[in-house]
Amino acid sequence: MVDELDFKKEESHFFEKRGELIKRNFAKRNVEVSLMNDTESVYKFIDSFIQDRPYIKHISFSDGVTLYQLDLYKWIKRKYSNLLVTEPLERGETGHYKVFGEQPEGRMNLPYEEWKEKQDLWYENLRKSLLCDLFIISANAITLQGEIISIDGTGNRVAGMIFGPKHVLCIVGKNKISTNIETAFDRINNYAAPMTYIRHLNKHAASFQNLPCVNNGKCYSCNDESSACRDIVIIRGQIKMHKDRLHLLVVNKNIGF
Ligand code: SF4
Repeated sequence: MVDELDFKKEESHFFEKRGELIKRNFAKRNVEVSLMNDTESVYKFIDSFIQDRPYIKHISFSDGVTLYQLDLYKWIKRKYSNLLVTEPLERGETGHYKVFGEQPEGRMNLPYEEWKEKQDLWYENLRKSLLCDLFIISANAITLQGEIISIDGTGNRVAGMIFGPKHVLCIVGKNKISTNIETAFDRINNYAAPMTYIRHLNKHAASFQNLPCVNNGKCYSCNDESSACRDIVIIRGQIKMHKDRLHLLVVNKNIGF
């Protein structure tokens, strides 16, 4: 009997066909795409990527829900304890950046001098991560035509995507595939960005409570002073000599925002 409630085969056919299209279009732009069915395949890919490039000695990350959901921070630290693995945006128990030390829940209340010293260290760690050998990140959207689109506040993620780290692995779930740039921005502005602000508001005591998207569930193209929608970057491929620099991994799962 036909099971009208099970669409695994249809979903997998759709992912395969879209994946082939994405691979072809990104290849024309000198970006190699690998399609992954599960977390285990992501781990295997990273393992062989590192083994094939023994000069990789420093691995670093940007912040990303996708990376948390794949448990990549912990997995890499365990697996590659022989290498330098840095996570400049690592959080402590109460959701503040670890570099600030354990803080009470809610807003930090450090004396200015102490806060400034830690803030400078935080920034310095971000700068150092841009010179790593392997940078592992996610993006806000990719398009079928072969673009990678991200919006950043601090800018460390988009900076590293473009220049600095020797290699970049950009990992996205199938939910981040958009048909074109317009639909990608619609997805980012009206879903990914608000969800990111709500995440930081709830989990990291960030002061995003006044943003229009947080309060209305859609983007108002605001210029609120607390908005982190500052660096809007479209990567439309890489130059031929950088063919092995940025690799895109597309996972057959809904992960990240
Ligand atoms: S531009 Fe403003 S309203 Fe739009 S997503 Fe960014 S912070 Fe929210």
